[in-house]
Amino acid sequence: MGERKNKLQKFLKLHPKCIFCGGYVDATTIEHCPPRSLFQNKMAPEKFEFPSCVACNNYSSDEDLIVAVMARMGSPAFGDSDGRLVGMMKALNRQKPKFYKSFLPSATEARINNRQLGITPTAGMTHQEMGVLNINDETREAIKVFAKKLAKGIAYLEEGLIFSNDHCLALNWFTNANVIKDGGHKVFEILSHIGGVTPKLSRNRVVLNNQFEYKFSLSDDKNLILIQAKFGESFFLVINGCMTAGHLENLLEKTYQDLGRDYRPFEIIQGIAMDPISSN
Ligand SMILES: [Zn+2]
Repeated sequence: MGERKNKLQKFLKLHPKCIFCGGYVDATTIEHCPPRSLFQNKMAPEKFEFPSCVACNNYSSDEDLIVAVMARMGSPAFGDSDGRLVGMMKALNRQKPKFYKSFLPSATEARINNRQLGITPTAGMTHQEMGVLNINDETREAIKVFAKKLAKGIAYLEEGLIFSNDHCLALNWFTNANVIKDGGHKVFEILSHIGGVTPKLSRNRVVLNNQFEYKFSLSDDKNLILIQAKFGESFFLVINGCMTAGHLENLLEKTYQDLGRDYRPFEIIQGIAMDPISSN
């Protein structure tokens, strides 16, 4: 117990402020992002521990569970190597029974989905427990909450940047089902050419990039960041961030106006609310 407390005190001395609510509040806890439960045997990569206030740490526990279940279910080849998935699904059902019902496809839906996507359940698993989930509003919300935290964590880890609450983060995300059905994903393809770093992620020398991998890009003036992240075979996040309030929001609004269509690949998940410019 004492050792753990020491470790925390040492960590907080180096990282005194909560990075999730703007860097103003003293951090008193360590937040793991992505959540450890997303990784097999809870072996999360080293360094993915961030200074957090209690409020920010507790805020996303439901979302963390949803995201961890999604990442595992969408990666049938290894998503349940540690045998924890069913327990996590039961926990989710206990915590959010109504949500769980709409999240999990029916047995028939699951069988059809999995057949289309070429997914075969591994031993002891049903079609429902493998592969494709129904993406509902709450799932989308969970991904947004998670993406915000992840972007702040990676920006801090890679460059020591702390996003304040009026700095913009914009998200585009998609699942393995989108990729398989559409034969790829446009945003990912376009942005894949942007230079950046893809670090090797490991714990105790076990490489974990099959479960979580990202590419981090930063503009020369350190004003814009781009994160392209992959969670096993399950889902993919593309997050744009900007350290100048209002800049990215305007840029996106202008781009969408020029494109002259309602389709907005990036959704602003944090930043200054913009009045949508009318398209007439
Ligand atoms: Zn905080």
